[in-house]
Amino acid sequence: MSRTINKWIVALGGIAFLTALFFCVPYLSSKAAWAAHSDDPGIENSESSDSTPATAKPLNLGELRRKYSETFKFRGPEVKQIALTFDDVPDPRFTPQVLDALRKEGVKATFFVVGHRAKKYPELVRKIHQEGHIIGNHSFSHAQFKNRSRSQFQNEILRTEKIIANLVGYRPKLIRPPYGDVNEDQVKWAKKNGYTIVNWNVDSLDWKGLGAQEVKQNVLQAVGPGSIVLQHAGGGTGSDLSGTIRALPEIISTLKGKGYHFATLPELLHTVKHK
Ligand SMILES: [Zn+2]
Repeated sequence: MSRTINKWIVALGGIAFLTALFFCVPYLSSKAAWAAHSDDPGIENSESSDSTPATAKPLNLGELRRKYSETFKFRGPEVKQIALTFDDVPDPRFTPQVLDALRKEGVKATFFVVGHRAKKYPELVRKIHQEGHIIGNHSFSHAQFKNRSRSQFQNEILRTEKIIANLVGYRPKLIRPPYGDVNEDQVKWAKKNGYTIVNWNVDSLDWKGLGAQEVKQNVLQAVGPGSIVLQHAGGGTGSDLSGTIRALPEIISTLKGKGYHFATLPELLHTVKHK
């Protein structure tokens, strides 16, 4: 008789255990899936976390922008504002013509200065500043930084910053890394030292020497509220930026017609131009 009761107890215990397992396993596995999901804001936005293991795969630019969203920008808030940005200045072949076009349209923009060019053409940097545009830092030698060290990045930024400060009286807060390329260590340095890294979300591709029509199309097709547009007002040997210069008046008038206001990057991003 007692052996039969024992068998029943074992059987009932087994059923209870299996039932508990049946309900718990999906819960536990969904918890694990949640914790591992990369869109979890608790993981993505932990800007202060320095716990990335040395062996982890380096974060790509999109991941860096999400993780360091206060430091690394590529667009503004969704308001009817657009920021025009011009890289690789100063260049006597193209910068004065871009400045003339902007002056005629009454538009202020942001120019990213390369240190070694600023040393060569200091008057042009002063002219950009005197005409009411904002100056940002585009490194000294236009190096691709992704595979370089934090100290190489730091040296290039500080060297250029000093040249710019001597010419226009402020040390730029805004950095645009050449090719938009940076690594996590460099973004951390920028954050710690009060810089804002600014890429773009509309690429004119004007550096390819495109005609005015193509440059205009590239911009107008992609532009929207809060866009940051990449163009160039300087280039390498043999570059032709006449397309971007001719496209500017039409780009500006079309967008003004659609109710957009042109802002500098500090205006669009609600920040300041200087450190
Ligand atoms: Zn550049």
